Amino acid sequence: MGHYCKFCGTTQPNERFSGKGHRNHVCKKCAAMPREKRDAIEEGMEIDSILKQYYCVIACFPFMAS
Ligand SMILES: [Zn+2]
Repeated sequence: MGHYCKFCGTTQPNERFSGKGHRNHVCKKCAAMPREKRDAIEEGMEIDSILKQYYCVIACFPFMAS
């Protein structure tokens, strides 16, 4: 049973996570990334989820997009 890293999007063995990384869902490899890079990825994730919400609105309520 592994643990999911939200940054690289993979499930990895528990020993790949430090105590703090475990809680934050960041594996040791991604935790070693420069902060700016991680911030950029996090930002990208947010934009991605906003886009998904937007497309869901169009799919569910097409009349709202016109
Ligand atoms: Zn990772």
